[in-house]
Amino acid sequence: MQYRSTRGQAPELSFEEVVLTGLAEDGGLYVPTSLPQFSADELEAMAALSYEELFCRIVKPFVGDCLSDDELRTLTEKAYAPFRHSAIAPLKQLGPQAWVLELFHGPTLAFKDFALQFLGQLMAHILKKRGEKVVVLGATSGDTGSAAIAGCRGLPNMDIYILFPNGRVSDVQRRQMTTIDDANVHNIALEGTFDDCQHIVKTLFVDAAFKQEHRLVAVNSINWARILAQVVYYFYAGLALGAPQRAVAFSVPTGNFGDIYAGWLAKRMGLPVADLVIATNTNDILARCVATGTYSMNGVVHTISPSMDIQVSSNFERLLFDLYDGDADAVFSLMASLKQNQSFTLGDAQHAALCEAFSSASADDETTKAVIRDVYARTGELLDPHTAVGVKAAELSRRHPDAPMVTLATAHPAKFPDAVVSACGATPVLPEFLSDLFERDERFDVLANDPEAIKRYIGG
Ligand SMILES: *Cc1c(COP(=O)(O)O)cnc(C)c1O
Repeated sequence: MQYRSTRGQAPELSFEEVVLTGLAEDGGLYVPTSLPQFSADELEAMAALSYEELFCRIVKPFVGDCLSDDELRTLTEKAYAPFRHSAIAPLKQLGPQAWVLELFHGPTLAFKDFALQFLGQLMAHILKKRGEKVVVLGATSGDTGSAAIAGCRGLPNMDIYILFPNGRVSDVQRRQMTTIDDANVHNIALEGTFDDCQHIVKTLFVDAAFKQEHRLVAVNSINWARILAQVVYYFYAGLALGAPQRAVAFSVPTGNFGDIYAGWLAKRMGLPVADLVIATNTNDILARCVATGTYSMNGVVHTISPSMDIQVSSNFERLLFDLYDGDADAVFSLMASLKQNQSFTLGDAQHAALCEAFSSASADDETTKAVIRDVYARTGELLDPHTAVGVKAAELSRRHPDAPMVTLATAHPAKFPDAVVSACGATPVLPEFLSDLFERDERFDVLANDPEAIKRYIGG
C-alpha cells in the first residue's frame, strides 16, 4: 500500500518509509491511498480472535510486503507481551449501555502504549532489514515520553533521547522515564519549560545536516503506524459488544485527534459505529468546530487532564482530507488560513458530514471531578481525569440511546493521583509491577536550555 500527503505536494511513500518519516515535506500528514474493507461476514468471523490475532488481520493490508504474516505475528506478540491483562483491552460496565474500554494495562499505564509498543518493534524490524540506525528524539510534558521509552528500550539500532522540563513533571511521570536502565535510553532534564524542550527538538529537526548525520526520527502522534495500531481496539470492543449486528458508539478523550481518528478509520473500514464523541476539556477547539463549522485557535489553558491541553489538533488535518474527499488543494488552503488567520471555516457540506459522524462536548475541571466522584460512588471504580472527561461527554451527547456507549479509558487513575484524591478522597494504587517505582534508581542528565548542548550530548 502507498501513502500520500494530505497537502498533495510530497512524494508518495511505501509503508516502510512512512514509518520512519514524520511530517511530509509539504508540511502535510501521510494517509493511505486506499482503505481495506471488512464485510459483515468477515467481521463475524473475527469476533472469536484474540487481541493479537485481530491485530494481525486488521493491520496486514496496510503493511504491504514490509512484513510477512509470520513476521507480523511475532512482532505483534512482542509488542503486547508486556501488557498486564490477558484481554489486553478489557471492557468494564459502568451502567446501562455504558462501558469503559480499559486501555491502561500497558507498561506505562496509558493508551499510548498500544501504539508505541508496536512502533518500537516495527522500527527495529525495518532498521535491521535495511542495516540502518536511528536516533529517536522527542520532548515530553510527562506522558508520551515514558511510553516512547518503554516502546524503544533495549531494541537494537536505535537510541532514544527524551527531553523533559527539569522539576516540572510529576514524580510518577519522571520516574517512569528515569528508572529505565537500558543503555539505549537517554533522559534529559532540561533547565527550562516544556515549550523550551519542544523548541530544541524542532531546532534539531530542521537542522538538515544534524538530522541526516544522526538519522533523527520522531515518534509523535502524527506517525501513521501509531494511528494504525489504534484502529484495532475499536474493532475489538465493537465485536465484543455485538458488532456487526449491533452498532456501537465511542466517546474518546481527545487532544491531538490521533485516537479518535483511528475510530473514524474503523468505521470507514466497515465497523458499524453509531457515533464518535469528541470529548474535550476546556481546550475545546474541536467542540467549537463541531458546533459552528469554524476551527479557531484561542490559546492553551492548563487543566487536570493535561494530555488533552492542546491549542490545535494535528491529526484533524487527516479528517479534513477525508471530509474534502481527498482534495489536497482544499486542505492546503485551510491550513494556510489557519497559519495566517488562526482559523478556517469548513464548507457547509463538510460541516454537515462532520456532524453526521461526530458529536462533541467538553467538561471543565470541576465537572471532571464531579464525574470521578459520582462514578466512584455509584460503581466503586476510580477514573483518571481524562477518562472522566470522556464519560461526561458521552452523557452529554448521547444521540443513539440504544447503542452501547464505550468511553475509552486512556490512562490509569494512579497516573494522576492528585486529581483523583481531590475529586473523591480515594487514593488510586499503582499496579503491583510498579509498586517499587519510588525505590528504583534514577538515571538522567540535567542539561542547559541550549540546542548546542543537546547536539553535543547526542553527538558524543
Ligand atoms: C495522549 C492522550 C490523550 C489524547 O489523545 P490524542 O490521540 O492526542 O487525541 C488522552 N488521554 C491521555 C491519557 C493521553 O495520554
